[in-house]
Amino acid sequence: MTRITLVRGDITEQHVDAIVNAANSSLLGGGGVDGAIHRRGGPEILAECRALRAAKLGRGLRPGAAVATTAGLLPARWVIHTVGPVYSHTEDRSAQLASCYRESLRVADELGATTAAFPAVSAGVYGWPMEDAARIAVETVHATPSGLEEARFVLFEARAYIAFENAVAAL
Ligand code: ADP
Repeated sequence: MTRITLVRGDITEQHVDAIVNAANSSLLGGGGVDGAIHRRGGPEILAECRALRAAKLGRGLRPGAAVATTAGLLPARWVIHTVGPVYSHTEDRSAQLASCYRESLRVADELGATTAAFPAVSAGVYGWPMEDAARIAVETVHATPSGLEEARFVLFEARAYIAFENAVAAL
């Protein structure tokens, strides 16, 4: 069974098999987690993202999907890029957000990863309310069978850490 752990810190400093990136559909870089991963991971990651776009993701990666690249200079073997949905007040996109975690776990399994670090996908620039983002993240990882020994949520801000703690306590 996958153990869910919580850490307050920077996802780019995690020594794990796979680091999950809160990417955008273009896969060509952005702010937040994405910016930090490309800054710290070096140009090799972006080069692989460009190659993926050219080969099979001409229109980019859809929200809820996930794809892997090298982790470049990061202390991990792979980066799994997933695209969270932008939060909407008029449309329920929580199935897409849950899919980010399920698909990332599926890709992690394919790679043979045993440890993975996840950010709070969609809870930054994409505007998802933190409590709800945490609940969806924790419930989905808890409910999805995978070969991971550890699924580590890495939270940057204190309020994110508290939200994830509450979500784990509610399982
Ligand atoms: P999205 O575009 O999917 O909303 P963001 O990268 O903007 O993704 O933010 C997702 C969450 O990750 C936010 O809670 C943000 O504070 C947090 N975050 C930003 N940088 C890092 C980092 N280096 N490590 C871990 N979490 C981070």
